[in-house]
Amino acid sequence: MTATRYGADRGAIEGLLADWGEPGYRARQVWEGLYRQRRPLDELTTLPGRCGPASPAPSPDALELRAEAVSSDGTTRWLWAAAHDGAQMEAVLMPSLRRATVCVSSQAGCAMGCTFCATGQAGFERHLTAGEIVEQVARAQHASPARVSHVVYMGMGEPLANYDEVWASIERLHHDFGISARGITLSTVGIVPGMRRLAQERLPVTLAVSLHAPDDALRERLVPIDRRYPIAEVLDAARECSTARGRRVTFEYACIAGVNDDPDRAGALARLLRSFGGRGGAHVNVIPLNPTAGFTGRSPSDARVRAFADRLRGLGIGVTVRRNRGSDVDAACGQLRARSPFLPSRPASARMGP
Ligand code: SF4
Repeated sequence: MTATRYGADRGAIEGLLADWGEPGYRARQVWEGLYRQRRPLDELTTLPGRCGPASPAPSPDALELRAEAVSSDGTTRWLWAAAHDGAQMEAVLMPSLRRATVCVSSQAGCAMGCTFCATGQAGFERHLTAGEIVEQVARAQHASPARVSHVVYMGMGEPLANYDEVWASIERLHHDFGISARGITLSTVGIVPGMRRLAQERLPVTLAVSLHAPDDALRERLVPIDRRYPIAEVLDAARECSTARGRRVTFEYACIAGVNDDPDRAGALARLLRSFGGRGGAHVNVIPLNPTAGFTGRSPSDARVRAFADRLRGLGIGVTVRRNRGSDVDAACGQLRARSPFLPSRPASARMGP
């Protein structure tokens, strides 16, 4: 398959334009337009002839827009389909005053089967390529007035199950888009071999681990991969990442009423994480469960979530209760693919790329 627009790295763009007999500086113009200015090719009107807006160089976008929904809080959710095989993936843009964060998918679907997650409920389709991941960020940037400074691998899929393409995309986002390594967060459900590999990488991206329970008996009911990689092994690998790069590890905890929201569980979680160590320590993100059609669990009351977080704090663990951004368009954590295709807020064709 020919490299797509964002699948082509700088070397590939240079090679293609050299084959066309274009001067050497033309590749730099195209690359700077796409990555430094972060503009769509059709806006780079200074480029001449077949390098310009009507150009196939580098070849066309890999992703076609299927639907878009904008939340009342400004969060935008897109459903993309790969042009060559129709595989679907979603991305979410979360703007704030001066910056924007993009949540990307690393796979079409997911094989991990976490019971509370809409993506897991729908099953696995295929891995995404680095170019498809980079393009999700580029297309979100085109729609965002604020500069995208943060990228989180928390959309559809388990990033460490698609290690090579995910890592290639991280390097492209860092080197080409100029997103700092600290602005990139990779979230895993606890794929231990991938975490150990990550600990050896040079770029100090932030690691987030989806824990959701302080003991294996409960965790394996929520996160089936716990049977293969139990909590103790996951924490060892997370500690290795933290020690190797001096970065704090975030532990995600989806709070589910009557399942894992008991303050005693907060006590057990605190005991577990107090001995975590590492060079950066541990922090817990408590995320009140977002509803999905395939799971009967519900979110605890605000008071219950507060009590859970207070108990952790009282026992010396840093905690953030995450706002559920975009939940009115099913763009919140665990909700991607909750309604597929979701209702577009405007015709998809209104936002189609060139
Ligand atoms: S929570 Fe993450 S790893 Fe688990 S099924 Fe959903 S997308 Fe996959």
